[in-house]
Amino acid sequence: MTARSNDVAATLAGLRVEVADLHRDLVRSGLVVWTAGNVSARVPGADLMVIKPSGVDYDRLTPETMVVCDLDGNVVEGDLAPSSDTAAHAYIYRHLPAVGGVTHTHSTYAVAWAARGEAVPCVLTAMADEFGGAIPVAPFARIGTDAIGRAVVDVVRGSTSPAVLVQNHGPFTIGATARAAVKAAVMCEDVCRTVHIARQLGEPLAIAPDDIASLHDRYQHQYGQP
Ligand SMILES: [Zn+2]
Repeated sequence: MTARSNDVAATLAGLRVEVADLHRDLVRSGLVVWTAGNVSARVPGADLMVIKPSGVDYDRLTPETMVVCDLDGNVVEGDLAPSSDTAAHAYIYRHLPAVGGVTHTHSTYAVAWAARGEAVPCVLTAMADEFGGAIPVAPFARIGTDAIGRAVVDVVRGSTSPAVLVQNHGPFTIGATARAAVKAAVMCEDVCRTVHIARQLGEPLAIAPDDIASLHDRYQHQYGQP
């Protein structure tokens, strides 16, 4: 084994643990039921990704059951078939080099917005912080081919938002890491719920574009521990 392949093997072992653990966060955050939803991570230094196996119960997911695929979605390591959304994840990694993680769920409030094909307006400081504007909608696309990945990438390229609602389906989120993509999925569901509730009592108030830009910049560059 070369030094490089040793490095990739060590990285892969770590990412198997991380991606398996992040699936528990989807359950803990109430974003998934049964076996729906998936997280993947790009393998730095290799054209590979680690992704959830298809149709396996969340409490049976372990580092060993994670599947390693190339960025065309072909299985490289693993005994189980990969997630049915593997082609979408692979397309996103091929076309957005800065993306290190992708998450997809059918979380209730986000899917309710997706079912109407309605973008979530930026009416909360929390939205300006995390999404830098509205959460956009991508057109309907069939599952299992490049179509969803293409729809998501087309929308993400014109947006500050790491979350996209695929019409009639649900949220796909991206991040520099798999953990960041899971965080975006959690925040997406939270703000979809809040804006939905606000709507029941009247029309939520828009935030001015320059205030959104300022909030987004502060949160992305100054928020948290130095
Ligand atoms: Zn789905």
